Amino acid sequence: MQTSGTAFPDSPFNGIAFTGCAMQAAASPSPGGPSSHAHDHAGARRREVVVNGTRIRTVDIHAHCAVPAAMALVKHPLEAPGLLMTDTSVRLAAMDAQGIDVEALSINPFWYRAERDVAAELIELQNEALAEFCHENPERFVGFATAALQHPDLAAQQVEHAVRQLGFRGVGVGGSVAGLELADPKFHPFWAKCEELGVLVFLHPQGTRELEPSGRLGGSGLLTNTIGNPLETTIALSHLIFEGTLDRFPGLKICAAHGGGFLPSYANRSDAVIRTFPNRVGPLPKKNPTAYLRDGQLFFDTIVFTPEALRHLIAETGAGQIMIGTDYPFPWTSTEVDLVLNTPGLSNDERIAILGGTAAKLLGL
Ligand SMILES: [Zn+2]
Repeated sequence: MQTSGTAFPDSPFNGIAFTGCAMQAAASPSPGGPSSHAHDHAGARRREVVVNGTRIRTVDIHAHCAVPAAMALVKHPLEAPGLLMTDTSVRLAAMDAQGIDVEALSINPFWYRAERDVAAELIELQNEALAEFCHENPERFVGFATAALQHPDLAAQQVEHAVRQLGFRGVGVGGSVAGLELADPKFHPFWAKCEELGVLVFLHPQGTRELEPSGRLGGSGLLTNTIGNPLETTIALSHLIFEGTLDRFPGLKICAAHGGGFLPSYANRSDAVIRTFPNRVGPLPKKNPTAYLRDGQLFFDTIVFTPEALRHLIAETGAGQIMIGTDYPFPWTSTEVDLVLNTPGLSNDERIAILGGTAAKLLGL
């Protein structure tokens, strides 16, 4: 597979290339336009987010994309047309309308059962395509690298290459890896490398697949996603805490999707079980489980839908652990900026941190 240099227009990466129109719209205002942020995309004006009189840069930590050439290697189907980056005009219009200045792009893992050679080729191609796309459009996009966690030593190499050669500052992972928990000791080499390189890990669930054959997530409500996704995140984070993974790698920084699933809304039960069944819970982590939510290793996006839910999440984690997320192109929400502006009890500095300041720091923007 050719992986060098310029990828336009005939390379395997062309599925992620900007069109000229979208590139121009993203890169610069039209000369003579009323202001640098006033041009239109599909009729929508770009919303400038202002806090306390200051225009701030907003960063969406949870946005999806796809690299078709990588999916083709394992015949993975395209989940939604909006994942494609060939024409980003609709995406940019949505970002502009919602007041999102920068999207941190991630790719949900579909390669965790691939053999080593296929996984190596897939990740190389995918990371190079994503890196090139983001480098071409640094004002609007930053990427999370991908890695083949099912081969942990390879995954560690992939992260190292992604950071040192391709310029990534983050890496995405699923909520489990082909049936194994992220806390499994098998993945220690991967976590060690993430800690060593100081990359932000974005943890995104893919449902609780082990429950699906039972039928308990069937029926109405798309429960495989509605509760299956946050449930997987809840399980993954609980194991990372209780199995001592976060103790073993104290420099690790993980941002969990969907507000951390159900964990932050019921984390006190994880403390309570230690008092309730002291002879059945060990070996124990160094701190009470709730402490891990707020001590700097775990971060959470804002996809919890209401100011009251976000207020509670912040009460459990602290405002410094929260970053806005939209889940684009999946239309779960289009109002994350207003959610943060409308959540009670936040200082201006806290709103600025949630809207983009914390993400900018973690991703080196
Ligand atoms: Zn998502």
